[in-house]
Amino acid sequence: MSLFRDDLSAIPAYVPGRPGADPSVIKLSSNEMPYGPFPSVQAVIAQGIGSLHMYPDMHATRLTARIAAFHGVSADSIVASNGSVAMIEKILDAACFPGSEVVIAWRSFEAYPIAITVAGGTAVPVPLTPAGGHDLDAMADAVTDRTAAIMVCSPNNPTGTALTHRELFRFLKRVGDDVLVVLDEAYIDFVRMVDPIRSVELLADHPNLVILRTFSKAYSLAGLRVGYAIAHPDVAATLRAVATPFGVNSLSQSAAIAALDEADEVRMRTDFVAAERKRVAAELAALGFDVPRSEANFLWLEMADTEPFVEAATRSGITVRAFPGDGVRISIGSTAANERITAAARLYAAR
Ligand code: PMP
Repeated sequence: MSLFRDDLSAIPAYVPGRPGADPSVIKLSSNEMPYGPFPSVQAVIAQGIGSLHMYPDMHATRLTARIAAFHGVSADSIVASNGSVAMIEKILDAACFPGSEVVIAWRSFEAYPIAITVAGGTAVPVPLTPAGGHDLDAMADAVTDRTAAIMVCSPNNPTGTALTHRELFRFLKRVGDDVLVVLDEAYIDFVRMVDPIRSVELLADHPNLVILRTFSKAYSLAGLRVGYAIAHPDVAATLRAVATPFGVNSLSQSAAIAALDEADEVRMRTDFVAAERKRVAAELAALGFDVPRSEANFLWLEMADTEPFVEAATRSGITVRAFPGDGVRISIGSTAANERITAAARLYAAR
């Protein structure tokens, strides 16, 4: 007898990017920043340690107020979570009935199919366009009366492609307001395109839209696990009701507030990543790789046999994230790390 639901045995493994045994190996496999947390953030964490015997503010009131001010929305539109991945799980748990379908682009963030299965739903994967983007028409066509939610990831992990505001606007109009649209903007701060999504503006006309953000990427706080949703106050109230009690710890709450005060520094860091992304993408293209246009802090190299590239990267002292059968994702790191990955690509191309 199984102690758990039989369908859970079908859950695909989430394979995290591993640092590797050798400390000289640089990890470009988890889309982390090459910079540590801001000094101001480290200071508030140090100050908060003495209060760790107390539970945190359950609804992260100061943090949600600060995030609301940052986005120019009311505080009742914001719900914080233990990383945005916890919010993805909660949304799907709350939205799925047995037999529910959740439309996703594929390939996209590997946590989606896992969270959908755990929630009791069925993932309906819609293939990406040849350019690695979401096929929004096909995703809208995939909606049925069993659809509980549509996951839209922009920029998309792992291809890096981003939707324009116009594309998302038209999609939301087409799917209507009866189905949840979850817009995962984990990598929004790296976007430098023309007509980027201005997601918060869309909330007024689309109360079924839930926007997800994280402090793990541009804010250099992946280790602290803070994410949040921006949603219509009614949707936010449900997400607050189903949230894990005390889900965001007190150090994370004050660190995230301090990080939001570092807007200029965030801009400088993400400008660096965007410039390096452009440089590395151009070098890879010159070597013959077909690199989708990335608006995130990583690049995607489509290849069926990933092993030779992984080997070349390992020989150059880099770990990358391989999706066997599909391709390899390379995070943009420090200048030195990026030199190593282009060296690995040259090794690979010359093999
Ligand atoms: N969404 C996407 C698209 C991601 O790539 C990631 C992290 N890999 C997350 C969400 C999760 O971020 P967090 O650290 O906030 O849980």
